[in-house]
Amino acid sequence: MKTCLVVDDSKVIRKVARHILETLEFNVAEAGDGREALAYCQDTPPDVVLLDWNMPVMSGMEFLRALGTSGMSPRPKIVFCTTENGVGHIRAAIEAGADEYVMKPFDRETLESKLQIVGLA
Ligand SMILES: [Mg+2]
Repeated sequence: MKTCLVVDDSKVIRKVARHILETLEFNVAEAGDGREALAYCQDTPPDVVLLDWNMPVMSGMEFLRALGTSGMSPRPKIVFCTTENGVGHIRAAIEAGADEYVMKPFDRETLESKLQIVGLA
């Protein structure tokens, strides 16, 4: 079974994402900010990380940078989540190591197609 770490400070979004991912037969773990996510990845590297942008403690961008300098190998695939207001961040996130992005709110079809693009669905 493939594993996905859902990183978002919103419990509701984590719950929605978990539900979708479980129907796609992923094992799902959750983290509420980038720092928790980084610790999780160092301990149990997931296949893919679904990453929120705006979070307290450590943002999605800070997480990407920290993961990049951690030298983790193989690195999990990263699909980061943005909103229509945040599309300006897409290039910065891709440059910092994100593999794909998904617009919030996302549905099952959209998320599945993004996971296919990164080779995981
Ligand atoms: Mg957020």
